[in-house]
Amino acid sequence: MGECSHPVDSSNIPFPQRPIIILGAGIIGCATARQLLLKGFSVILVAEYLPGDQNIFYASAWAGAAWHAAGGISPEYRYIQAVSYRHLLKMAREEPESGVCIVDSREYLEDAPSENSSIWGKTVLSKFRDLNPDEYPPNFNCGWAYESVVTDPTHHMPYLREKILALGGQFIRKRVASLSELYTLFPESRIFINASGVGSKTLHDVQDDKCFPERGQNVFFRTSNCNTMYFRNGKEYTYVIPRPQSHGVVLGGVKQRDSLSPDVDMDIARDEIARAHRLAPEIVPENPPEDSLSYIVGIRPSREGGFRLDSKQIGARIILSAYGFGGGGYAFSYGIGDALVNMVEKAERDNIIL
Ligand SMILES: Cc1cc2nc3c(=O)[nH]c(=O)nc-3n(C[C@H](O)[C@H](O)[C@H](O)COP(=O)(O)OP(=O)(O)OC[C@H]3O[C@@H](n4cnc5c(N)ncnc54)[C@H](O)[C@@H]3O)c2cc1C
Repeated sequence: MGECSHPVDSSNIPFPQRPIIILGAGIIGCATARQLLLKGFSVILVAEYLPGDQNIFYASAWAGAAWHAAGGISPEYRYIQAVSYRHLLKMAREEPESGVCIVDSREYLEDAPSENSSIWGKTVLSKFRDLNPDEYPPNFNCGWAYESVVTDPTHHMPYLREKILALGGQFIRKRVASLSELYTLFPESRIFINASGVGSKTLHDVQDDKCFPERGQNVFFRTSNCNTMYFRNGKEYTYVIPRPQSHGVVLGGVKQRDSLSPDVDMDIARDEIARAHRLAPEIVPENPPEDSLSYIVGIRPSREGGFRLDSKQIGARIILSAYGFGGGGYAFSYGIGDALVNMVEKAERDNIIL
């Protein structure tokens, strides 16, 4: 007699053994998967683009990616950034293959910092000090020096892929039209995490109108002088972000709301080089040789009013949302991962200890 095959009776699977499904394998989905796996959860990531891909709509492939304290955010969100810093610093110290590096930073401010500014970063960053007036250019109000961390996504995303696989996580390449499609694909699962970035604008059962694409374009300048970060904090949005492991620096930036062009705009590129030269002339020459330059174009998953982070019970399922990180997905990454782990643990507790 042959074996009988029975349809899976998902009602018999204990809650903690049901895989957690993450939609999206950018830095938010992958950082969350890593943190959940380290806690012993079973995780499946479903995404159209996976670590190593280079589509412009896959923001995580293109980020700078600096940890810079965001201004204008709540104490709760500052703490999420601080947690992220803690994890990134540990990776920089213990796992060089993660592509995370500790770098010296200089930040020049056009105006005196308000209480709500990025000044809170001094409670997190190492070696923070106010610069003396002779240490910053004369047209600025003040300046800071500190150590921060930068993440090179060309190393970090492949590192995360390997880490997730080694911890028992699974990737499935698939584009879905809705979260409901995932519920059908994984009937046994109870916890779903929407980390789909700008995808949340179009998923049929999300359609978050606050989401919008925000194009970024950077210049990568190959140079051995790649250990110091520079920020211009004020009206002009200019940075020089080092990538020590890629032997160069990322020059930026620009934010173009609703632009989806994959083509390099050479006027923007020339302007970014000129601004970076004014900010850090000792790193960026006025006319860098053409063969030392390459260009980066990516779409940030931005959201009016800031990112979404919440948990909702819909019937028997728990839907966690974590998207809309705009220009700060790496700075928030692992802190968001830990916040989502806390939400998952709460859901598990509510369903185990009745
Ligand atoms: C030029 C540039 C510079 C930047 N610099 C910095 C920086 O210095 N510091 C910093 O912190 N951040 C920076 N960022 C921002 C950072 O890149 C983003 O905030 C971050 O990558 C967002 O990650 P995410 O996981 O939310 O989204 P994404 O990386 O866009 O990933 C979204 C995932 O969801 C999947 N997905 C979406 N819809 C669907 C669907 N319908 N079906 C299946 N899969 C779907 C995608 O395939 C993908 O896997 C920069 C961004 C750019 C473009």
